[in-house]
Amino acid sequence: MSNGSTFPPRRRFGGTLVVVLAALLAACAAGWLIWRSTSGHGGDRPPKALPAASPSSPGGPPGKGGTGAGDDGGRSTPGAPDDKGDRPGPGGPTGTRLKGRTVLLDPGHNPANRDHTREIARQVDVGNGRKECDTTGTSTNDGYAEASFTLDVARRARTLLQAEGAKVVFTQDGDRPYGPCVDERARAGNEAKADAAVSVHADGAGAGNRGFHVILPARVTAGAADTSAIVGPSRRLGEHLAGRFVAATGSAPANYLGGGTGLVVRSDLGGLNLSGIPKVFLECGNMRDAKDAAQLTDPQWREKAARGIAEGITGFLTE
Ligand code: ZN
Repeated sequence: MSNGSTFPPRRRFGGTLVVVLAALLAACAAGWLIWRSTSGHGGDRPPKALPAASPSSPGGPPGKGGTGAGDDGGRSTPGAPDDKGDRPGPGGPTGTRLKGRTVLLDPGHNPANRDHTREIARQVDVGNGRKECDTTGTSTNDGYAEASFTLDVARRARTLLQAEGAKVVFTQDGDRPYGPCVDERARAGNEAKADAAVSVHADGAGAGNRGFHVILPARVTAGAADTSAIVGPSRRLGEHLAGRFVAATGSAPANYLGGGTGLVVRSDLGGLNLSGIPKVFLECGNMRDAKDAAQLTDPQWREKAARGIAEGITGFLTE
C-alpha cells in the first residue's frame, strides 16, 4: 500500500452474488480494454493500440509487431501521432529490445521494516511536505506481507527485463535492515539515470475492494520536488503498464478508486514527487480482499503480474 489512504468498508457478498460479481468484473475488464483501445480523446496523448489479449498464448515477452528489432530510438513526443504500436508479435525477436536501457524496480517497503519501526518513522522531505521514511506495508489476513510480495514480484520482473537486455537496478533487494526511505528510493532512479521506474505494491483496502491500480505523479513543484518533466511520460508508462497488466493477469482495474480506469494521480508520495525520471507505483491488488489475496499469494499469479510489469515497461520503452 502507499500510505495516506483510507477506504470505506464493504459488505461481504453471498455465494450467488460472487458469481455475478465475477462476471461483472470480467465484463468490466473486457470493456475497459475495448475502451482503452479505442479512446484517443483528451488531446494530451496519442491513441494507443493495446496488445491483443491472448491469455492462452504460450507466454514470454512479446515480439514487436512489424517494426523490427532494436528500434527503440524513436520515442514519440506527447501529442504526436503514434502508429507504431507495441503489439505482441508471436515469434518476434527477443533479447535485445531493451539493450542499453536501464530500469529501476522499487520493491515497496522492506520485510524487515517491522523490526525497525522507530527508524522508518523518521520524517523525510518529499518536496511539498514531510512523510515517514518508509512504512511496514500491509499484509493479507493470513499474514503474507506486502513487502514479501513486492520483492518476489520485482525479482521475477527483473529476470524478464534482463532477458530483454535491460540493466535492472533495485532500490532494495532484501539486503538491508530496513527501508530505504522514500526520498532515497526516488534518488536511486535518478542516480541510475533509469529510463523508467516502477514501484511495486499491493493495497490494504477493505474487503470487497478489488483490482489493481497505477499511481501516476501529479504535477508538483515545491521544494526539492519538480515533476513537470515526468508527468507526461509517467502517464504513458502507466498506461502501458495498466494495459499489459490486464492482459497478463486477467485482473480488472480497481473497483474502488480511479473510476474504473486503473489510473490514479497523487501528489503525496515522495517516491514520485522526487523522481526525475518517468515513474509510477503499481498496486497489484488488495491484500485485504480474500479473492485478491488468493491471487497475490499464488506464485503462478505473481509470475503473471511480473510479466505484465515487464511487458508494460518494455512497451513504454519501445513505443
Ligand atoms: Zn505499499
